[in-house]
Amino acid sequence: MSSNGTDSSQAIPFLDLVTPHRELEAELTKVFQTTLRTAGFIGGPVVESFERAFGDFCDASNCVGTGSGTDALRFALAAAGVGEGDVVVTVPNTFIATTEAISQVGAIPEFVEIDEATYNMDPANLRDYLENHCHLQTVTGRLISDRSRRPVTAIVPVHLYGQMANMDEILALAAAYNLIVIEDSCQAHGARYFSQAEKRWKKAGSIGHAAAFSFYPGKNLGACGEAGAVTTNSAEIAQKVRMMRDHGQARKYFHEMEGYNGRLDALQAGIMQIKLKHLADWNEQRRAVAKRYAGLLAPYADGVVTPVEAAGAVPVYHLYVVRIKDRDGLRDRLAAANIGSAIHYPVPLHLQKAYSRLGYRVGDFPITERVAAEIISLPMYPGLTHEDQVRIVSKVAEHVESLRNEALEVAAV
Ligand SMILES: *Cc1c(COP(=O)(O)O)cnc(C)c1O
Repeated sequence: MSSNGTDSSQAIPFLDLVTPHRELEAELTKVFQTTLRTAGFIGGPVVESFERAFGDFCDASNCVGTGSGTDALRFALAAAGVGEGDVVVTVPNTFIATTEAISQVGAIPEFVEIDEATYNMDPANLRDYLENHCHLQTVTGRLISDRSRRPVTAIVPVHLYGQMANMDEILALAAAYNLIVIEDSCQAHGARYFSQAEKRWKKAGSIGHAAAFSFYPGKNLGACGEAGAVTTNSAEIAQKVRMMRDHGQARKYFHEMEGYNGRLDALQAGIMQIKLKHLADWNEQRRAVAKRYAGLLAPYADGVVTPVEAAGAVPVYHLYVVRIKDRDGLRDRLAAANIGSAIHYPVPLHLQKAYSRLGYRVGDFPITERVAAEIISLPMYPGLTHEDQVRIVSKVAEHVESLRNEALEVAAV
C-alpha cells in the first residue's frame, strides 16, 4: 500500500460532536445551571422562545417542539388529518422513522421510486403511481390505491441527506389529487430552493401542510439528547400538535382526546437556542466541505459518483454520500486508515423484515436497490479540515485505482 506521508494514525471521525460543544461549553453549562435553579424542566418560556426562533429560521409561522423527530412526524400526520386505514406515499430510501410514524397513526406506507441523480422522491414516479396504480372511487370521489384498496390521503417527501425534494412538482400533484403533504425535514435544517412555480425562495419546513424536524445529536441542529419539532403555516395543525404532544390537553387535566407524552424539555430547548445562532454558519461550512470534496474527487469521476445539486437548490449536506463500486471494500480501506464512514441506508425499507407484511419484493424499486448497494457516507461536519479531506480522498483514490487495475487484469485474461 502506498504511503502519502500523512499521519494515518490520527483518527478522522465520521462526525465530530465534541468540538462544537467544547467551543460553546460555557454558554451551554449556563443553560443547565439556569434550568436547575428555576426547575423549569418541561415546557415554559424557554421552550416557547426556542419554538419562535426555530419557526423564524424555517420561515414557518408556527413551530411546536416535540420529544423527537419521530414524534414530530407522527403528530404532524395525525394533526393534518391522516388516520386509520389511509395510505401515505413515501420513498423506500429513507430512515425507518418516516414509515414508523405512518404506521403509528394507523396508516399504510406505500413507496414510489427515487430519482437516481438526487436520491429523493422522483415526481415522475409519484405521478405514475397516482395515475396508473390508483383509481378514483366513483361514489366517494376518493383516490384508492390498487395495491392496498385503501384511500391515499398524504405524501411524505423526505429531504434526504440535506437535499431538497422536488417540491414544486410534488405540490402540484398533491393539489391535483387533494393530498396532504408532510415534509420529512429531519435531515434538512435550513435547506432551501427557488420555487419556479412561485418565483421565490422556500425553506424546508415551510412548504407542505406541515413538516417534521429531528434534533437528534448528529443532525445539523442537534440537542444534547432527544428532541424534535413540527413546523407549519397552519395555526390549526399547530394547535392540534400542541395537544397531541401533551396528552390531548389544551388545559391541564381537560383532555379533548387521547394524546402522547411527546414534549420538548426546557434543557434541550435552551441548549438548541444557543446552537441555533450558529446553524447558518455551520451549514455554510458543510457546503464548503462538500465543495472541496467535489474538487478533490473530480479526477476520479470515472469511479466515484458525487452528490448532484438540483437546479436552484441550496442543500445543507447533513451527509456527504457518494456512489462507488465495492463500497464495502472502501469502508474497510477507510477503517484501516482510521477514517470513519457509514451507510445511509444499507437495506431499503421495502425489503426490511419489519415491512414483509406490505408484500414488496426484490426488484420492485431497482434504482433504490442499486443505489443502496453502492452508497457510502464520507465524514461530513463543520470544521472538517482540508488536510483531513485530502487524506480521505487519497483512500478513495487508492480504491478507484485498485478497481481500475482489477478491470485491466480481467480484460488482459
Ligand atoms: C433522524 C430522522 C428521523 C427521526 O428523528 P428522531 O429524532 O431520531 O426520532 C426521521 N426521518 C429522517 C429522514 C431522519 O433522518
